[in-house]
Parts: sequence; structure tokens; C-alpha cells
Amino acid sequence: MIKENNKSCAVIGAGISGIGAAIRMRNKGYKVTVYEANAFPGGKLSSETNKGYRFDMGPSVFTMPEYVDELFILSGKNPRDHFNYEQLNPVYRYFFEDGSMLDAYHSNEEFAEKIAQHTTDSKEAILKYLEKAGVVYHLTEEVFLKNSLHKLKSYLTWPTLRGILNFGKIGAFDTMNQANEKAFKDPRLVQVFNRYATYNGSSPYLSPATLNVIAHVEIQKGAYYPVGGMYSITKSLVQLAKDIDVAFRFSTPAEEIVVENKQVKGVRTAQDFTQYDVVISNMDIYNSYKKLMPGVKKPQKTLDQPKSSSGIIFYWGIKKSFPELGLHNILFSSNYEQEFDTIFSKKAIYNDPTIYINITSKHSPDDAPEGCENWFTFINVPNNSGQDWDAYIQQAKAAIIQKVNRLLKTDIEPLIESEMVFDPRVIEKRTSSAFGAIYGNSSNNKYAAFQRHPNFSKEIKGLYFCGGSVHPGPSIPLCLLSAKITTDLVKE
Ligand SMILES: Cc1cc2nc3c(=O)[nH]c(=O)nc-3n(C[C@H](O)[C@H](O)[C@H](O)COP(=O)(O)OP(=O)(O)OC[C@H]3O[C@@H](n4cnc5c(N)ncnc54)[C@H](O)[C@@H]3O)c2cc1C
Repeated sequence: MIKENNKSCAVIGAGISGIGAAIRMRNKGYKVTVYEANAFPGGKLSSETNKGYRFDMGPSVFTMPEYVDELFILSGKNPRDHFNYEQLNPVYRYFFEDGSMLDAYHSNEEFAEKIAQHTTDSKEAILKYLEKAGVVYHLTEEVFLKNSLHKLKSYLTWPTLRGILNFGKIGAFDTMNQANEKAFKDPRLVQVFNRYATYNGSSPYLSPATLNVIAHVEIQKGAYYPVGGMYSITKSLVQLAKDIDVAFRFSTPAEEIVVENKQVKGVRTAQDFTQYDVVISNMDIYNSYKKLMPGVKKPQKTLDQPKSSSGIIFYWGIKKSFPELGLHNILFSSNYEQEFDTIFSKKAIYNDPTIYINITSKHSPDDAPEGCENWFTFINVPNNSGQDWDAYIQQAKAAIIQKVNRLLKTDIEPLIESEMVFDPRVIEKRTSSAFGAIYGNSSNNKYAAFQRHPNFSKEIKGLYFCGGSVHPGPSIPLCLLSAKITTDLVKE
């Protein structure tokens, strides 16, 4: 039972973090209204159907489902009555140019056992690496994931202090690639673990080895598939929010966060102005300042931090089934270092890109016609600084087709019976993400975690921020933690 407090809160953006924040604020007793520019919820976590093929448009790897469950429990409901998921095992299938293939299994033990059978590294070496990633995860989660980095009280708890006292052990001084090259002899394993840098749009040749904790999250804590696909996360949480009386205003972009005397006053749209006690912006932080608060002093250094990579995605309806592929498939580039250098230094696309193919019809057969598959085909590309994206799309499509044909020994082009394409311009337009960067700031330096914008405004009372472009960062679980950290900062 929610105890009303007669206060009101606006959430700008129905991204996963905005929805999470709305549910949490409602549970604190606020009357909550969510403004969403699109006609649909979810932002990056949305869904489209094209010629009988359904696609999750953005995220496809689901980890830490407990943060979705937590929102149902907080609202007095049993999550299993509303949202379900299955554990994946194996999680990934990796393909290499030499014709070899590796399957990544769940749990340190099974992963190490099976991978050691096909590589030159021993089970013991792999286990040692994974166990270390687990230790670093536990040392860092309180400091970097679960609390505001910008409030003194966050530093006065034992788990946080322990993390800080062990700073030397968390791998902040090596890059991911340096740590992975020290750990493994087999270059394929180095590549497998380097890939986790792309989970927040960064380069393993620049990001701190601390990010190797992502391997622990995916391999040991586990990866899951939501029943009905990724979009069921958005759908079930929006339904939960509606059930507890959160109001949604779709197709209603906020045009201004109105501020007077350093106090938030409310939200202006093209139609009206409404007063609120609290405003939480889930819009990308760069555009929150630029577009919604042009008159407010900007934290320029924070906003100018280098942004993450973006993606070109082909959503292909494939009129054939490929038993050699699983839900998550990676076709690795033969020169990873050059690929990242091309993306981050040259701001161009690489001619032999690493390709990610996600096929949800493997688990949700209704996502494609019988005997067919829905291919979400993704390559990492730079964010938008005015490149010729139409030319890049043609170049990317040709490179992907060639590589798929080579590695899967097929002729894929005649099998593509439907196509939608996203590039950084589309991502920018659809979600207001600055420069179409998928993950906010990149993590391409060891201080990146400290350079994200805090979850509150230091200048304006009543103004807060949540989502992938602010602390603690991108991905579904971190965005849900961002909603929690943000709403915990709002006084009852
Ligand atoms: C291709 C791709 C693959 C990804 N893969 C994964 C993955 O496998 N696993 C994973 O965990 N994460 C993944 N991510 C990252 C993850 O999707 C994001 O970190 C997360 O969804 C971001 O959520 P958010 O709440 O920050 O907001 P967003 O999803 O960015 O949504 C922001 C919302 O705010 C709305 N909005 C913006 N401005 C206004 C305004 N002025 N008024 C009203 N509404 C406004 C937008 O329309 C949008 O709906 C992926 C992302 C993409 C794009």
C-alpha cells in the first residue's frame, strides 16, 4: 500500500531507467507523470515488427535480472506473476577467421573446463582469471555501481571503504588488453575477454582492466533470456507502473525544465506547463542541458567527455534456419586492435568488422515465420561526427555479407527477405542520445567512472538525472541501479 505524500514528480523519458525511477518515486508516495517523446516506451529497449519478423531494437544480453524483480517486490507484487526469464547455457558462440569456434558456458567452472579443451590455455589459468574478476567485482560494486560517487556519505560505509582501500587491486592501472594478454596465451581468449569493453562502447586497448568484471557478471552471475524477448522487460515494467498509478504522456516531448531561483518549478511541453516538486531527467545528460535548460550553467567539462561508440544494425528477416548459430553469435575480426583504432582514432568503420548476430527466434519461434530467423546484425562504429553514413551502411553491408558467407559457408544475400537499418543518426533521433553514442561517455580512460554526471544537480534543487549517460553508466542493470541511486537521493 503506497503512503501518499502529496508531492509530485515528473520523469522525462520512458527509457528503462526512467520507468524504474517512476516506479520507485510512486512507491515513495509521489504522484508521478512520465513524459515520453516517442509514441512508445523503452527508448533503446523497444521492439518493431517488419514483414512477419519481430526484433528487439537495442539490448539483447540480459544480466542481473534481480534489478527488474526488485521493482515488482517493492510494489508488493510477485515478479513471477508478471515477468519471467530463463538462464542461458551456453551463452555465446564465437567464430574466428581460422575456422575455429568456441562456446562460452555459464559458471566459471564449466566455462573454464570447456574452453580449455579447445585452446592452448589451461583450465586452471582460465579459472584463476575468472575468480579474480569476481573478487574485483565484489570490491567495486558498492563504490562504482550501488551508490552515488558524488556524496560523502557513500564513502562512509565499510564495503565502500574496503573498495577504496583495495584500489591497487582492481586493475585500474593496466588496460583490459594488457591484463588479458598477461592472463592468456591463446590470442582467441584475449579477444573473447577484450570484447567486454564493447558492452559500454569502449576500446579494450584504452579502458582500465577493472572492466574485466563484466566477464564475471555474464559468465558467473549469468545471462538470461526474458520470456517473450527483451521487450517484455519494458512491457511488464510499464504495466507495473500503470498498475500503481504512474501516468504516462506519450508523444509528448518535454521542451523545458523550468527553473526559478535555483529551484526546479516544473516541465513545459508544446501544450502546457505543469508544476512539480521533483523533476528527474532520463534524457541523455548532454541534451538535457543543451535542449531543456539552455539558460542553466552547464558542467561543461563533464559534458565534453569523449562519447562511446555507436552501431550500425541490420534487422534482417532471413528465410532459412541456421542450426550452427545460437541466440548470441560473434564473428570476430582478424585484427581487433585495428578495428578499435579505426573506430576511436579514425572515427571510421573497419573493413573487417566484428559482427554480432542475435537471433531471438531461436528461443521465441513466433519472432519469425516457420523455417526462418530474425537476425539482429550489429557492428560497432564511431559515434556521429558527420560521417557519410549512407556510404558507410553500404560498405558495412558488403563487409558483413562477405564475412558471414566466409565463416558460415553460405550465400546470405538472397536469403534476406526483409531489412530495417539503424545507424548513429537514427539512434540519436529515436532516443535523443548525443551524437548517437549508445552508451553515453566512453570508458576509454581510468578516470571515466568519476567523470560521469552525478544523479543530482549540484546547482538546482529538486532536479535529478538517471540513465545510461549518467552514474553508474549504461546497460539495463546499471540503468535500473541508476534509477535506484537517484530516487534514494530524493528526500521522502
Ligand atoms: C543496439 C544496442 C545494443 C545494446 N545492447 C545491450 C545489451 O545487450 N545489454 C544491455 O544491458 N544493454 C545494452 N544496450 C544499452 C542499453 O540499451 C541502454 O544502456 C539502456 O537501455 C539506456 O536506457 P536509458 O534509461 O538511459 O534511456 P534510453 O533508452 O536512452 O531512453 C531515453 C528515453 O527518453 C526519451 N526522451 C528523450 N528526450 C526526451 C524529452 N525531451 N521528452 C520526453 N522524452 C524524451 C527518449 O525518447 C527515450 O525513450 C544496448 C543499446 C543499444 C542501442
